[in-house]
Amino acid sequence: LKTFKAKIFLATFSLFVSLETIAADKVRVLLGEETRALEFSTQYPVHFESGVQKMNLSHPKMSFKVSRKGGVWQVEVPGQPTYSLKGPPRLDMASISIVWKSGNVVYPVSLFYKNGRYQLIGHMDIEEYLKGVLPHEMPSSWPLEALKAQAVASRSYALWKMKHQESSNYDLRTSVLDQMFRLNKVGESTSPPPKVEEALRATKGVALLAGPSKVLKAYFHSDCGGATDGARNVWGTDSPQGSIRDVACAKRSSGWESQWSKEKISQRIQAEVVVPGNAELKDLIVRSQLKSERAQWVDLLYSNGYLKRVRGEDIRRILGYSKIKSTLFAIQKSNGKFIFKGRGFGHGVGLCQHGARAMAQAGETYQNILNHYYPKAILRSPLPPMELKEATRAVSSL
Ligand SMILES: [Zn+2]
Repeated sequence: LKTFKAKIFLATFSLFVSLETIAADKVRVLLGEETRALEFSTQYPVHFESGVQKMNLSHPKMSFKVSRKGGVWQVEVPGQPTYSLKGPPRLDMASISIVWKSGNVVYPVSLFYKNGRYQLIGHMDIEEYLKGVLPHEMPSSWPLEALKAQAVASRSYALWKMKHQESSNYDLRTSVLDQMFRLNKVGESTSPPPKVEEALRATKGVALLAGPSKVLKAYFHSDCGGATDGARNVWGTDSPQGSIRDVACAKRSSGWESQWSKEKISQRIQAEVVVPGNAELKDLIVRSQLKSERAQWVDLLYSNGYLKRVRGEDIRRILGYSKIKSTLFAIQKSNGKFIFKGRGFGHGVGLCQHGARAMAQAGETYQNILNHYYPKAILRSPLPPMELKEATRAVSSL
């Protein structure tokens, strides 16, 4: 084992560099959450802070484990005595490059402990962020104009999230809960596929607006099954995407089926829906359909006459988005089973990715694709600096 000349010191005065010194126009991406411990390594100095305790650790190729044992917070560094802290440590690294879960984090990061979880947050330029999104939201083998349309939708969605800080610590998650984002593995090229880079370069700064100075929360999904629908209809939230008929998808979309025994479906629903008394689930009925034929409301009927009305999208959430692929379903009952038969994949709001692909293959531009899927939005090219500025906010101080 190599011995390193360790430079480790505990500072009694604040050497703390606030994240505010990292530009405030960065996207804050929740790279990951850990419940037991957070482990990472880096060759750059790390600043930990816990209450009045502050420490700067610097050691070549240093690995860290942040955890809690009993009521004590610890920072473990191999070959060093364990550091005990009086409260949850917070971390701020203006210098970049840490290795976390074999992923290469080449952005400034911060660490928070919230609701029993360690949150590792990366701070990056929006265009840099989109390089980690686009290849995972749409195959890079798809036509360039479809990739450009996806780039603008993803950029607009991210800008909206930055403007409407729903969490104080971060703007975006890295899953379908927001949009997919993946870190490069150690040793992997940091450049996305050339077509992805081209799509981002050609649309740099372009975004969809919901009004003269309002970024659109641009939703998108995999396959509309023949028609899209408005956010208000699907979730009851106000976001002016508009809705359209999608002829290509009506012809193309293949069907899906999901079977549920009464016991299984009751179990799942029971975990989410409170029913008075010891009533048994009797039936599920699509109460109303949207113009796109999506199930808007579904009635759950119980043995004691109780009726609970839930949104079609709630049924997807409760039973699983991969099982109930869309709300374009009909429910059949056969031999005590509930059989969902449907088509399409995703919530059906905003851009339809398979439809965008078909339009691009037919020679349409990305502008035409976006105008088709967001008939109520304004395509701004490029987004004026004022609006970009408005779409950003100060990073809250640690
Ligand atoms: Zn479609």
